[in-house]
Formats: sequence, C-alpha cells, structure tokens
Amino acid sequence: MRPDVEAIDARLPQHQCGRCGYAGCRPYAEAIAAGTAEINRCPPGGNLVITRLARYLGREPLPLDPACGGIEPARVARIDPRRCIGCTKCLPACPVDAIVGAAKRLHEVIAVECTGCGLCVAPCPLDCIRLEPIETPAAARRRLDPPPALRREAGRRLERQAEILRQRYHRHRRRLAGRRRRQRHGLDTADAGNLAARRAEIAAALARVKARRARR
Ligand code: SF4
Ligand code: SF4
Ligand code: SF4
Repeated sequence: MRPDVEAIDARLPQHQCGRCGYAGCRPYAEAIAAGTAEINRCPPGGNLVITRLARYLGREPLPLDPACGGIEPARVARIDPRRCIGCTKCLPACPVDAIVGAAKRLHEVIAVECTGCGLCVAPCPLDCIRLEPIETPAAARRRLDPPPALRREAGRRLERQAEILRQRYHRHRRRLAGRRRRQRHGLDTADAGNLAARRAEIAAALARVKARRARR
C-alpha cells in the first residue's frame, strides 16, 4: 500500500527551505510516498527525522545524504537595524513569512517563525542579515519539531502562496491572450491611441504653419 503523504509530511520540520531538492516539505513528502526519493534528504531534520520516517515506513534508517548538505546548529536570522534601508528584497525570499516590514521602513524577523533557513541572506543588497545560533535547547527543539498549530499554519501559508501564484499565472495568461487578440485584429489599442494622438499633433502643427503663411 502507498504510504500516506500527510503522515510523511507531518514528520518533516516544515522549514520549506528546499535543501532536500524539492520545492518544500510537502513535495518532498509526495516524492517519498511515490518511492522516488529516499528518506535521508532533509538536513534541518537530521537524524531525528530520518529515524521517524524509517520507523513510519518500516525501513532501516540511512545516513544523511551529503549531497543535500550537512546538519547545522539551529539558527535564527537577525536584521541589523542600523543598515536596513527597507528595500523589501528579503520579503519574498522567506518561505515562511517570518520577515515583517514595509517599503522604506526597517524590516524585522519574527524570531519564533524563522526557521533559520538562510534564504533571505543572499537577496539583501546591504548584507545586513545574519544567522545567529539559537539561545536555548528548547527553542532549538521547537524549531526542529514545531507544534501542530505552527505546522498547520505553515501548510495554510503554503496553500495561500500557491493560490497567489496560480492567480498570477492565470492573469498573465489572460493578458497574453488579450494582447494576441488585439494584434490579430490590427494595432494594439494602446499603440492605436498613441498614433491617433500623434497624428492630431502633426495636423495641428501643419495647420499652425499654414495659418502663419496665410497671414504673411
Ligand atoms: S525542511 Fe527538510 S523536507 Fe522541508 S524543505 Fe527543508 S530540507 Fe526539504
Ligand atoms: S527570516 Fe530568513 S532565515 Fe528566517 S525563515 Fe525567513 S528566509 Fe529563512
Ligand atoms: S533586503 Fe536587507 S536592506 Fe532590504 S529590507 Fe531586507 S534586510 Fe532591509
């Protein structure tokens, strides 16, 4: 019988960091359930997650696949308030929406939501995001093993992001289809509008020249 994707996903840390080579925990869970991925590709989960998956699937644990990177200590991102210019470039990079801030305003990391994945570091043009070790073992454990409410919220957030991407994709397709339709039926309306305005300007200029000549 095919293993349950939900059950596998519930055993993953929900960092959505992509280090397993999949777009997030859920796609990795789907690949494990389909038998196309091994259980040892999640560095944030490390041996704990490998053991859990092995137990659930009735397999032997495997060492972490080095191709996915090594096990690192739990970390949290911090933004240097003296350097942040509020450019917002770090916002879309965070897969769990742990950064808050508006354009041209200082940005901040919500420490309890940050998984320490480090995906926000490279996009910052001011190099003002640092990953720092997590202070307490309890907080580190929570990071690896988020409580059910946090897991459900992570799942809902991913669903929302997927829905936004779907809507953007369909809007883009509609725009392209509209543009092609207009091109098939002659000039693009925007171009046609510009052309008409330009013609009117030229006609007015010619009329002014004619009037001037007539007065001489
Ligand atoms: S937490 Fe593990 S399973 Fe989830 S995306 Fe990161 S590497 Fe993949
Ligand atoms: S704030 Fe940075 S390190 Fe923390 S979860 Fe978001 S992208 Fe990852
Ligand atoms: S990318 Fe860097 S400078 Fe820009 S808002 Fe984020 S932390 Fe601030």
